[in-house]
Amino acid sequence: MANANNSNGQEQTNGNNKDLNTKREDYLEWKDYFMSVAFLSAQRSKDPSTQVGACIVNDENKIVGIGYNGMPNGCHDDELPWSRTGDWLDTKYPYVCHAEMNAIMNKNCSSVSGCRIFVALFPCNECAKLIIQSGIKEVFYMSDKHKDRDYMIASRKLLDLAGVKYQQHIPKQRKIVIDFDSINERHPKKP
Ligand SMILES: [Zn+2]
Repeated sequence: MANANNSNGQEQTNGNNKDLNTKREDYLEWKDYFMSVAFLSAQRSKDPSTQVGACIVNDENKIVGIGYNGMPNGCHDDELPWSRTGDWLDTKYPYVCHAEMNAIMNKNCSSVSGCRIFVALFPCNECAKLIIQSGIKEVFYMSDKHKDRDYMIASRKLLDLAGVKYQQHIPKQRKIVIDFDSINERHPKKP
């Protein structure tokens, strides 16, 4: 995409003026960033119906664990079913590891106690147990579209009893586009 520079140090990109002399105001805020990492890691999932990611963050805003839903380590994706229906043993449910479990197990520090977890979907009851036992104190989720299902009711019950806070994350930016070509955009030459 061709960019035209004007004499005020501004770059014109697709008709928008960007001031290159002052700090950006449209940078990703922390929580949008962590939720984006969760969504990006979900893109690694091979599940044909549901791709979920999770990102665990400590109180220094450092990411200490990332995960997405997938089959257990060493269990080849092609040897296990991805179906949602049929005999239980022929569905994915007995086998698949949820994103929250993988994020907790993948932690790169000794403990995630006191951390926050960012997840695309409200955690199921099994993941609620893991969240509670790991000491995670707060859950940020994008969607609770299954909130009326029994396992979600059980999940909220457990989180409430254990005092784990949860809230829906409302992102400042509804959509984030990763454009690998943007790094090659030209900026104005220094005077
Ligand atoms: Zn779960």
